[in-house]
Amino acid sequence: MPMPKFFIDPPIPDGEGKKKDQVIIRGEDAYHLARVLRAKPGAIITATDGQGRLYEVVLTAVGPETVRGEVRTVTADQAEPALKITLAQSLLKGEKMDWVFQKGTEIGITAFLPFLSARTIARPAPAQFGKKKERWEKIVLAAAKQSGRGLIPAVHSITPWEGLAPVIAGCFTLVAWEGEVNHSLRQVLTARPAPLPDTPDEILLVVGPEGGFAPEEIAMLTAWGAHPVSLGPRILRAETAGPLTAALILYHYGAFEPAGPA
Ligand code: SAH
Repeated sequence: MPMPKFFIDPPIPDGEGKKKDQVIIRGEDAYHLARVLRAKPGAIITATDGQGRLYEVVLTAVGPETVRGEVRTVTADQAEPALKITLAQSLLKGEKMDWVFQKGTEIGITAFLPFLSARTIARPAPAQFGKKKERWEKIVLAAAKQSGRGLIPAVHSITPWEGLAPVIAGCFTLVAWEGEVNHSLRQVLTARPAPLPDTPDEILLVVGPEGGFAPEEIAMLTAWGAHPVSLGPRILRAETAGPLTAALILYHYGAFEPAGPA
């Protein structure tokens, strides 16, 4: 069983360069270290700043509310897929949306963009958008910790349909569409141009609501630059389609290999 990974605030660099960078662990993680694991100063732990960096930290002070430490090494967190997937998911009813956030985080999605489309059944009042986002952020944080992610996926605000256009324009985009008869996911990924050197490798994945996309919506998404893909001859529930497709994309790019010896 790998050692749990603790979340730290990004380290405070030591201005004079004499001392090591200091880190602070708070909240549940501090309590867990102090009271459950009974860690002592001098213990070495693995920590993440939630932004994809992994730290080896020597503890200097341990308390149930705050644990302090010094950074020994910083490396890229191998738990993070090189490919960053943003899942644009049309809003789903109740728990189905929670499921998408939880499973999507475990699988390795980097960001979530909930949006509204013609057949969206779940239509919370705009005054509730903030509350919804907070709920999803909690689900994502818990799932990121549980699954050992090195990054806490971002949850964007609920976006109106037209808000998808600029996002699609800025990123290679796939739209899962059961009406697509020519292009499979594998074909489209194989034909996808490699990212330019020194640019992040990103894919935007768009998935419809329970009732699917209206034909004119597929026409708009395509005009904005999205590539429609079939997920095969079975119709998947909307809450299955996003996490499954993210897993298939990450598998295609080798993100499901073992981390290897530390
Ligand atoms: N059109 C159907 C099913 C919608 S399924 C209906 O009216 O009931 C919900 C979403 O899952 C779709 O919008 C699509 O994004 C995705 N999806 C489900 N099965 C799919 C498949 N076989 N190929 C591509 N996308 C699929």
